[in-house]
Amino acid sequence: MGRLSGLRGLGPGLLLCAGLAVLTLQGCASSPQPAGGGAGVYHTVRPGDNVYRIGKRYGVSSDAVVRANRIRDVTEIQVGTRLWIPGAHRAKAPQPPAKRSPGASLDEARRRARSEAKREGRLVFRWPVQGKLTSRFGRRGGKPHEGIDVSAPRGTSIWASEEGKVIHSGRLGAYGVVVIVKHPGHYRSVYAHVNRAFVRKGSFVEKGQKIADVGSTGNATGPHLHFEIRRGETPRNPMLYLP
Ligand SMILES: [Zn+2]
Repeated sequence: MGRLSGLRGLGPGLLLCAGLAVLTLQGCASSPQPAGGGAGVYHTVRPGDNVYRIGKRYGVSSDAVVRANRIRDVTEIQVGTRLWIPGAHRAKAPQPPAKRSPGASLDEARRRARSEAKREGRLVFRWPVQGKLTSRFGRRGGKPHEGIDVSAPRGTSIWASEEGKVIHSGRLGAYGVVVIVKHPGHYRSVYAHVNRAFVRKGSFVEKGQKIADVGSTGNATGPHLHFEIRRGETPRNPMLYLP
């Protein structure tokens, strides 16, 4: 105790900042405050981390992490930031990597696009809908086609292609009813002409979560999903990213 009483004059904040977090529950200015003072652990953000994976690792919801740390934009968390993981004890063992099917050969462009997406945000996109690919990315009738079209019966489920934050949900001109999801890194996915959107702007979606169903809203000749992947503002060929 001699050491503690000797430091008492410095205050608890300094104790924590000096790395003696176990001795005090009070944080220094740059650390998040534990919500409610309950159990939990700190996690230092590492390259490639995002709130969903961090939450998963500790067995808590991403929403709980967002709330406890008052994160405004989940896509902007900085490497090195210390996050309070409420209710957590320690990280779960990491998941074993998914098995790759033997003989699955990707052409060079796909390999590059996918490794870039992985590097930036550990993104691995999945198909957003089951249906028939009716139009590819590129030029169509002299006009650019900035995504792919997948035709499917009205009401078919549309799933988030990767986890992220919904930045648009509603009408958007010729695109009809549209959901746009911003992913960690610089990527967005766009789901257009949907019948109904089931998520609201600002909410977080998990990969594979049902976010809408197929429709023909806006400028569409029949029920289909127009799906885009953008990096920054630039539309990318979704086929390069999809399995
Ligand atoms: Zn289209």
